[in-house]
Amino acid sequence: SAAPLGSSVIPIVNKLQDIFAQLGSQSTIDLPQVAVVGSQSSGKSSVLEALVGRDFLPRGSDICTRRPLVLQLVQTKRKGDGIEEEWGEFLHRPDMRFYDFSEIRREIEAVTAKEAGDNKGVSDKQIRLKIFSPNVLDMTLVDLPGITKVPVGDQPTDIESRIRTMIMSYIKKPSCLILAVTAANADLANSDALQIAGIADPDGYRTIGIITKLDIMDRGTDARNLLLGKVIPLRLGYVGVVNRSQEDINLNRTIKDALAAEERFFRSHPVYNSLADRCGIPQLAKKLNHILVQHIKGILPVLKSRISDALVSVAKEHASYGEITESKAGQGALLLNIFSKYGKAFSSMLEGENEETSTT
Ligand code: GDP
Ligand code: MG
Repeated sequence: SAAPLGSSVIPIVNKLQDIFAQLGSQSTIDLPQVAVVGSQSSGKSSVLEALVGRDFLPRGSDICTRRPLVLQLVQTKRKGDGIEEEWGEFLHRPDMRFYDFSEIRREIEAVTAKEAGDNKGVSDKQIRLKIFSPNVLDMTLVDLPGITKVPVGDQPTDIESRIRTMIMSYIKKPSCLILAVTAANADLANSDALQIAGIADPDGYRTIGIITKLDIMDRGTDARNLLLGKVIPLRLGYVGVVNRSQEDINLNRTIKDALAAEERFFRSHPVYNSLADRCGIPQLAKKLNHILVQHIKGILPVLKSRISDALVSVAKEHASYGEITESKAGQGALLLNIFSKYGKAFSSMLEGENEETSTT
């Protein structure tokens, strides 16, 4: 199953990384971090999971995410035999590869309880998980505890401000993309997600609004005006999604089935079928891909000058050898090859050719 997130950006990044590899240097294409914010149970973990395309996060009607989960996606080379290996590794268990993703979820639950107790406690101590897969981009997603107002269980009386401080520490970074998640059956005017995102990103350059639970809105109401940005305008706009319900989770419904059900829901809905570009997890992935491509375009001049520097130093080395030998001629051809490849990747990106190109 290919992860929708990054699917159109992967070829560009791969191309650039190949070029750096041929030059013998590591590329540092730093993609922005993506964090989810919002009220408890608004569907943050569900959205992240759907974007990654695998089931591995604790989700539920109660407070499930009780420690920040920093999820590093690491792209592995596709194996020749076509068998796709995907596994997870936790920082706290470096010796252990988790091939079973439901075991990853159990481990997250266990280490959450270890640090934050069994009774709804919250801790700002991170859990760090790497997912290795040929279907992902090298980037970082952050799942955060939701904003909650009334302390329950072992939560301290100042739980709300503690969680807000924790969330702010992630989303205040100018390089962090904010997925501001609000449930459609809650009041958008009082959205915790949009409120805290507005503090971290007042100009709205890096906030995407996500409206979840469109399937369980009050009868006779719909989110048309919300999605069109007529209620609270947002520069990067909104995407409406339908994640799995608690019943779906209890029935172990797969992500694939859930995405198909979401597609049917939007297609057959009298209001949403005319807002297709603002509805569905694939549209959200597309929006993120577009932002990632814009980001790469922005850093291309820096990458280009790093490549030129590397070329200059290789050329100097050549000059110091004197006469060109056969192997050096080979190296020259290699450099030319690198240059032309780079030029192609560069111009096609500027023309926006890759943005809409699906590779699956
Ligand atoms: P989080 O606390 O924001 O991370 O929310 P979760 O992803 O854990 O979801 C909370 C609960 O809401 C779970 O029971 C989900 O099954 C349910 N849920 C999330 N999104 C939707 C949705 O779009 N539709 C429906 N019906 N239920 C949803
Ligand atoms: Mg959660």
